[in-house]
Amino acid sequence: MPGTTTVEINTAAFKGSISINTGLYIDGKWVDPVEPDTIDVINPVSEALTPALATAKKIAAVSIGSSKDVDVAVTAAQKAYKTSWGLKCPGSKRGKLISRLADLLERDIDQFAALESINAGKPFQIAKNSDLMGSIQCIRYFGGWADKIHGKTIESSENKLAYTRHEPYGVVGQIIPWNYPMLMLSWKVGPALATGNCIVLKPSEMTPLSALKFAELVQEAGFPPGVFNIVNGYGTTVGQAITEHMKISKVAFTGSTLVGRKVLEASARTNLKVVTLELGGKSPTVIFDDCNLEQAIKWTSHALYANMGQSCVAGSRIFVQEGIYDQFMDKFTAVVKALGQATGDPFEASTQHGPQASQVQFDRIMNYIASGKESGATVHIGGERHGTEGYFIQPTIFTNVTPDMKIVREEIFGPVAAVQKFKTEEDVIAAANDTEYGLSACVFSENVGRALRVAHAFESGSAFVNSAQLIESSIPFGGYKSSGIGREHGEYAIETYTQVKGVHINLGLMI
Ligand code: NAD
Repeated sequence: MPGTTTVEINTAAFKGSISINTGLYIDGKWVDPVEPDTIDVINPVSEALTPALATAKKIAAVSIGSSKDVDVAVTAAQKAYKTSWGLKCPGSKRGKLISRLADLLERDIDQFAALESINAGKPFQIAKNSDLMGSIQCIRYFGGWADKIHGKTIESSENKLAYTRHEPYGVVGQIIPWNYPMLMLSWKVGPALATGNCIVLKPSEMTPLSALKFAELVQEAGFPPGVFNIVNGYGTTVGQAITEHMKISKVAFTGSTLVGRKVLEASARTNLKVVTLELGGKSPTVIFDDCNLEQAIKWTSHALYANMGQSCVAGSRIFVQEGIYDQFMDKFTAVVKALGQATGDPFEASTQHGPQASQVQFDRIMNYIASGKESGATVHIGGERHGTEGYFIQPTIFTNVTPDMKIVREEIFGPVAAVQKFKTEEDVIAAANDTEYGLSACVFSENVGRALRVAHAFESGSAFVNSAQLIESSIPFGGYKSSGIGREHGEYAIETYTQVKGVHINLGLMI
């Protein structure tokens, strides 16, 4: 019998116990894996720093599945699709269920924020106001789409009536990362459910807690069994089984570019399933002399250091025009220093900067910092572990960097900036686009013509003018170049979860 575990949290920000089902969620039930196995879920903050947490460093042991569980989940999802979801369930009814899901998530927002804090190290208030509010808004937004999906009639000739149908794929696989567990889940689940698809979702094996809790809400909202299934597990087993499954017609993946290539390869090897990929980035932030400096500095800090730098859109390459460079560096350093001082227990109201999400991530970032130092870049501020407990890293700025350095070319996925000086608009556009990635880019200038020229010249799926990271459910999001294929959000997401059929009706043509 699959078990539950109870997490006790006793802090000023959140007091209470949260029960979590530790099994797999398949066909509307909690089940054990076919071949029972578990993984330990780790709290990235040390016990010393969060004495109020009754959990030890190990929060829970949760089930992990295998390809056999993916098979069971796909069978359940197919059955649900044919009997009670997809075209069997009117859009208005799907929309109502999805809206109820958003309401339930809003009711339990504190519990979910607390789970994101203990599992991913996010400052509680930020998890609540940003990750969870964003998730609720996203699910609600897509609930509104459920009864607005329709095709077109096409004028062809007097003998023909033709129209298009936007039909669901049936069973879709969804694979998500650990950096925004609930937000990434919502971005995937919202449009898939709205368009009538059934889901087999794999959370990151490191951060499954909020996804498991979310399955309880799916049950409570009253979704038919099998519409939403969770198979927790490793990428090389469960993830790969999803990407190779012959009965899954579409896979939506968010994660590294390295694994994204494997997802595409698996599709090519098997049933040519449709693949959408949201991958990595090395995003530029460009600051012109004529910007609003105070605002540019705050946004630049947010662009990179939000979520401890573990954002796909992190603005880790900062380009500052020469006339304003010294002034920018003085003030930016002060802001980053203050952020460093606001490092600590995610449940403290004053905390702005938490730990990295895992030991692996911590080691990876520290190796990049070492590489920056070895290659001759200057550590302007930070560059060390913060304290001696937990996976904390100081917000870091490197200067004196060159375009060939690893810290300038590769995605660090941590709180590490590389700042460079530039002279002209032309120079900075070339430098900003000198990357294999193309996810996001920011430009700061009070000259509207210049700001828009640069925004349009960025080779990236998103461009932010005088702001950063303001991703919204109604605005398409995705990558150019090696940052991905397809778009999430808005009408574009609805398109990626439907396949179009052209229907031809003969009105009198004789043969
Ligand atoms: P990752 O690629 O290691 O893992 C992502 C997911 O894929 C996890 O669930 C993992 O278990 C699974 N996986 C691993 N190997 C697999 C395989 N062979 N087949 C199928 N699935 C497999 O990435 P991560 O470390 O979890 O996340 C960080 C990366 O995600 C960064 O590169 C970041 O930029 C990217 N990301 C992108 C976006 C975006 O929207 N573009 C958003 C968040 C994160």
